[in-house]
Amino acid sequence: MTIFIRNATLLTLEGEGGTEPFVGSLLVRDGRIAAIGPDLVPPEGARVIDGRDRLVMPGLVNSHLHSGETFFKGRYEHMPLEIWMLYAYPILMGPRIPERLLYLRTLLGAMESLKNGVTTMVDDWFDPPTQELDRLATVFTAYEHAGIRATVSNCVMDKNVLDTLPFARELVPPGLQAEVEDSSVTVDGYMDYCKAVFDSLHGRAGRVNFMVSASAPQRVTVEFMQACSELAVARGVPLHTHILETKTQAVTGQEFYGKTLIRHMHNIGVLHPGVTIAHSIWVTDDDIALMGAADVSVAHNCISNQKLGAGVAPVRRLLDAGVNVGLGTDGLCSNDTARIFDVMRAAGLIHGIATPDHGRLVSSREILKAATIGGARTALRHRETGSLTVGKAADLLVLRMTGFNWTPLNDVCHHLVYCENGSSIETVLVAGEVVVENGRLLTVDEDAILAEVRETVPAWLEQHRLVEDRNRVFEPFFAEMHRRATIQDIGINRYQGDLPLWTGQNRPTA
Ligand SMILES: [Zn+2]
Repeated sequence: MTIFIRNATLLTLEGEGGTEPFVGSLLVRDGRIAAIGPDLVPPEGARVIDGRDRLVMPGLVNSHLHSGETFFKGRYEHMPLEIWMLYAYPILMGPRIPERLLYLRTLLGAMESLKNGVTTMVDDWFDPPTQELDRLATVFTAYEHAGIRATVSNCVMDKNVLDTLPFARELVPPGLQAEVEDSSVTVDGYMDYCKAVFDSLHGRAGRVNFMVSASAPQRVTVEFMQACSELAVARGVPLHTHILETKTQAVTGQEFYGKTLIRHMHNIGVLHPGVTIAHSIWVTDDDIALMGAADVSVAHNCISNQKLGAGVAPVRRLLDAGVNVGLGTDGLCSNDTARIFDVMRAAGLIHGIATPDHGRLVSSREILKAATIGGARTALRHRETGSLTVGKAADLLVLRMTGFNWTPLNDVCHHLVYCENGSSIETVLVAGEVVVENGRLLTVDEDAILAEVRETVPAWLEQHRLVEDRNRVFEPFFAEMHRRATIQDIGINRYQGDLPLWTGQNRPTA
């Protein structure tokens, strides 16, 4: 379909105009942006959208999420990562989610994302204990049906979870340790699986790609991380991983390797431009220099980080070092919505608690670039999407600028970061296809899907509650691990306020 958007306010975020909006028209043809300019004339037969009082901008990119958490939105509160994972990613696993619910779970996140202006998702999908092509195919199908662009992994670890945490072997009683099964993941098995995915699912519908993902350096063996890195480079896809989200992980690096986890990654030869690191909060100056020199990307998940009490990432220093930064929600039980607009606003605000040096805060323009082109780069899809550039895919948003979020109008970029919440979105295009119009999804029956989720998911959540109950037995030992790690002086601090912050009280249960 040919679409002509006439006389809109255009915010390209790269190339002409960059972060400075201008009035012009935009032509979409064969799924791509065919022309941008002030004096364009609509071709015959084109669908014309009146751009008056409308802002056209690139679709947002969610650089890091886990679709497996989508049914857990609103479920947890006030737990540090290591304890929260006991419930969101139980050590003593329950039954796997049935096929239909797997489909609905993925679709629900994609639907919420599209309606809120996210046109590309980077889904670090996790489906232990085994890797099956059919299950991943279901995830791909859901994204295909939603019409969203997605880069999806199957995130794994090849170590026993108790060997990924500091002090765990010391703190958890032997009887309980015996109940924790070893990972069934092997280097060869995962490589074979990934190759099968590349041969079958990767590139599906022209929109859904696969990426390689090793959960975190301390959660996999050196051979495993190296094999993943090699495969990712060979296939031109990202190596997605988590590094230094929590202070406990900073302590882990020292306990396991006698060095930081970034220095460890550097030493084993797996820091390169295709690496996307979720979080990177507890990084040292030396780590930041290594990351900049290696030209890696970081997914900054500032709402999730506060929900899990992980600290504030040194984003200004990462940007100064030349690290590419995207924005992510992380999963929906540590962020609770799929709205990147919320993450943008948080990113504009959170860094103010970390420094009185107001000249070093992260600006709206930097945040908008992180939410679009920076995010596209984290998926290595920046040549394909992430900005309004002639030749790129037409992944774009049309926002109405006449509501409260835009009246009166001052600085467009400031409005996008501090005033907008997605409610002004009228139209969303992915690859030139209208997927949201007048705020309604066109690709799937929104009401029917929501009704099916309301009908079928509570029984599944009830089953999950029983799994949580079984895993609660670990909580006191993990709480002690968290306490022991967080009271250490490790030379850097990403919490605000006095240390130690430990009160010794258990978290409230009611
Ligand atoms: Zn994550």
